[in-house]
Amino acid sequence: MSGGGERAIGGGFFMAQASPKRSRRNVQSWVRFLSAPIVHVFSPKRAARRVAHGPRGGLAVMMLGGTAVYCITMLLIFAFGTMFDRFGSGASSLVGVWRQWHAHESIGMAEGILFFTALILNGLAVFTAWLFFPFVHGRGPAVRSYRRALCAMVSAIGVLWLETILVGLVITWNQMTPGVEDAIIPISILICVIVLRAWLAAAARGVEARPLRRVPPRCEGCGYDLTTRGLEDVCTECGLPVRMSLVRSETRSGLPWQLERTPISWTQTVLSVLIKPQESYRQLRLRCKSSQSIGFSAYIWATMAVAAGVWIFAAYFLGAPSYRRVTWEDFVFPMLYGIILTILGWVVHRVIAAIVGSWWIYKGEFIDPTWGRAIREYESSFAWVFFFTNGVGFSIGGAFEANQGVFGGIGAQFGVPGGLLLFLIVNGLLLALWVCRFATATRAVRWSNF
Ligand SMILES: [Zn+2]
Repeated sequence: MSGGGERAIGGGFFMAQASPKRSRRNVQSWVRFLSAPIVHVFSPKRAARRVAHGPRGGLAVMMLGGTAVYCITMLLIFAFGTMFDRFGSGASSLVGVWRQWHAHESIGMAEGILFFTALILNGLAVFTAWLFFPFVHGRGPAVRSYRRALCAMVSAIGVLWLETILVGLVITWNQMTPGVEDAIIPISILICVIVLRAWLAAAARGVEARPLRRVPPRCEGCGYDLTTRGLEDVCTECGLPVRMSLVRSETRSGLPWQLERTPISWTQTVLSVLIKPQESYRQLRLRCKSSQSIGFSAYIWATMAVAAGVWIFAAYFLGAPSYRRVTWEDFVFPMLYGIILTILGWVVHRVIAAIVGSWWIYKGEFIDPTWGRAIREYESSFAWVFFFTNGVGFSIGGAFEANQGVFGGIGAQFGVPGGLLLFLIVNGLLLALWVCRFATATRAVRWSNF
């Protein structure tokens, strides 16, 4: 996975000076590299690979340049927003806006926007790269895998820039035209977030390591190398019959979703992973296309977003006075909240997976590090436990909001509302349980042969 630039260490510098042909090629490779986020804005995998294989020092240049372009764009959007504000700001030109921003202090609004945009942008790149890095890792140094993940995230600057301009246009349009519904702003932002999330995931898949072709056959029980053992033997270390490790139908029969993809097999798989994780991960086949497990979790998040929206709508509607007519906003806002909560749940899942994934790499847990991807996707099933626990906690009796009972008393000592305390304790326990489930899954797939 080493880029062309790394090969040029040594004599490369002098050769680049000596040959005009070579320097023209250098210029071309820089142009191809820097334009990748925009040219390949519709093919994230290609954009990510282009950036990952870019010239030496290219990543830093792209991060600095991308930050500069993006910050200036944000500044312009805020300036136009101030200019076209229908409630009247008084400024009629960009210069006027600038003067207005600096009316009282020499450092004000504009510098704040630049600083926080740069901070958030680069912070997000570094953070999301960590979320993805354990799952693009194969053999080789972890630092290099992190760099690849960071390249994939940085290559999203093109799509993020276009989305920001689109949202900026929507906001300006909303401010200029009195009749436009305000809901259009959160809707357009949410669509952009969902598109960006899908883009980042695809970009990460573009730089992920390939599964190993051949690994020696291992005992499912203890990991002993079974290369020289016959099918009728038993493992000399733990006594497990070799058949139980090397005959696929007897060990890894596959989860229902891996055998056929139907709503019924999806439900069966969710329930089986939830109720008996150890058995399920012992059945899990790991040498499958990643699209299979990704499809499984995609259905989880999609159905969860809809279910959360319906739940919030029902809770709100049942609590609302019955004489009121239901407007379209009564439907739209619960759906938006449902999607936002699901995205939050997805982020929590990815953070847990990245913590566990970093641990896997640190400990060298798997023969083939790419196995972690399947665990991550199938473990999305546990998000349903959060969904139901929090849904019940917030809607039935308002347990997570009310401030009474034992938790009210304990919470008062720490200055925290009792409902919030209960919410934090319950979700903290669930998070700990999630980490334990990942550990169970790790043990169950560690010596997989299929
Ligand atoms: Zn054994």
